[in-house]
Amino acid sequence: MHQQSIAELRGMLDRREVSSVELAQHFLARIKAHDPALNSFISVTEDEALKAALAADHRIAAGHAEPLTGIPLAHKDIFCTLGVKTSCGSRMLDNFVAPYNATVVERLNQAGTVMLGKLNMDEFAMGSTSESSFYGPTKNPWDLSAVPGGSSGGSAAALAAGLTPLATGTDTGGSIRQPAAYCGVTGLKPTYGRVSRFGMIAYASSLDQGGPMARSAEDCAWLLKAMAGFDALDSTCSEQPVEDYTAKLGEDVAGLTIGLPREYFGEGLDGEVARAIDEAVAEFRRLGAEVREVSLPNSELAIPAYYVIAPAEASSNLSRFDGVRFGHRCEAPKDLVDLYERSRAEGFGSEVKRRIMIGAYALSSGYYDAYYLKAQRIRRLIADDFRRVLSEVDVIMGPVAPHVAPDLGTSLKDPVAMYLSDIYTVPVNLAGLPAMSIPAGFAHGRPVGLQIIGRAFDEARLLNIAHRFQQATDWHRQIPAAFA
Ligand code: GLN
Repeated sequence: MHQQSIAELRGMLDRREVSSVELAQHFLARIKAHDPALNSFISVTEDEALKAALAADHRIAAGHAEPLTGIPLAHKDIFCTLGVKTSCGSRMLDNFVAPYNATVVERLNQAGTVMLGKLNMDEFAMGSTSESSFYGPTKNPWDLSAVPGGSSGGSAAALAAGLTPLATGTDTGGSIRQPAAYCGVTGLKPTYGRVSRFGMIAYASSLDQGGPMARSAEDCAWLLKAMAGFDALDSTCSEQPVEDYTAKLGEDVAGLTIGLPREYFGEGLDGEVARAIDEAVAEFRRLGAEVREVSLPNSELAIPAYYVIAPAEASSNLSRFDGVRFGHRCEAPKDLVDLYERSRAEGFGSEVKRRIMIGAYALSSGYYDAYYLKAQRIRRLIADDFRRVLSEVDVIMGPVAPHVAPDLGTSLKDPVAMYLSDIYTVPVNLAGLPAMSIPAGFAHGRPVGLQIIGRAFDEARLLNIAHRFQQATDWHRQIPAAFA
């Protein structure tokens, strides 16, 4: 049952071939059997899951089922869940039980999904490997000596191992797409404002966006449909109507124009990864798409701009964790300053501290113009590059990351090298555009992801393009042998 698509599970539930309770029990048993090796879950909510599944079974019996009623899923532990620990991968929030649901969680609850638990992640979503989690690193199901990517590494690993059929993720600079690529699953970062950020713990508010992760584009379409849409509780949420993402699946891609940015295929891209991407693009040619080279000339400025803007926003967002209102508080503080200093020193890990220091520095008077303002100007140039190219082609394709999943333990020793591996993903967040990662083969025995970047609010088209590719290939159906 863990290899079925959402449409297949829906059919089985509707025909009463399986109950939602049985489905939940199946996945809970797999989590128990396999997660000790992976560490993809921070919390498993067995009792709540079985209760929700029972309610879903009643709803199905009463004839009120929606497309996701009775379907299990798991949330990245960055989404607030009423009555369930929401840690954000940090010691700071190890004792935090959210008093409300994030809008995404609330909507998916209303749709009748069954939450299996909360997924591991880099601390406060800062990282590219899921190794900065207070709860220890998650492992890659394809190779337990490799990282699953980050920050939504728990989501990607749990999907690849068949521990959940659906997962939520968030993407500030690649955190949905890159772990999806490293684990051979499918993920979509929506247009900024497409999905509510209410109750999603903030990292860098002008870049953060929640989105669906699954084993296929079709399953992502079902999940996005239930997550997306205007929310009065998030002032940056778009009022644009939500398209029917599953309606367009299967449309022909003949005549589609694809741009390959010269800058995404240059120095630093692993040769075997490049070969897999070339093969995937050739498949689109066979499907009738027209491919041409394009240029995003400011691409190389994206990393320096992102690693000023994201930490600047993070230093402001994380100031609320002061030992008073939320989370960890040090023992026996001698005064208020001691309370702040020791609570934050003990509660945050080293990557988070590094970001807060970079951000506070970039925002300080005297440096603001030189760093933060400059970075904002670069951000505009990058958005303009995309706007120009996407008026000439329908979508942009390229690699998600310059290499496959690195070995565990290598990245945190050299954070700057880790930041550089975000080169193909962060520009998309700076421009606020939607982008997907879909499985496109293997290099050095580890999965490779193809990135598809689209115009603002063109999620339906991206999902269809990905779906067409998945009808023609079977990379997304590959399963790591140890978790079959
Ligand atoms: N690796 C990037 C960072 O550390 C992106 C993380 C994310 O998208 N949340 O900031």
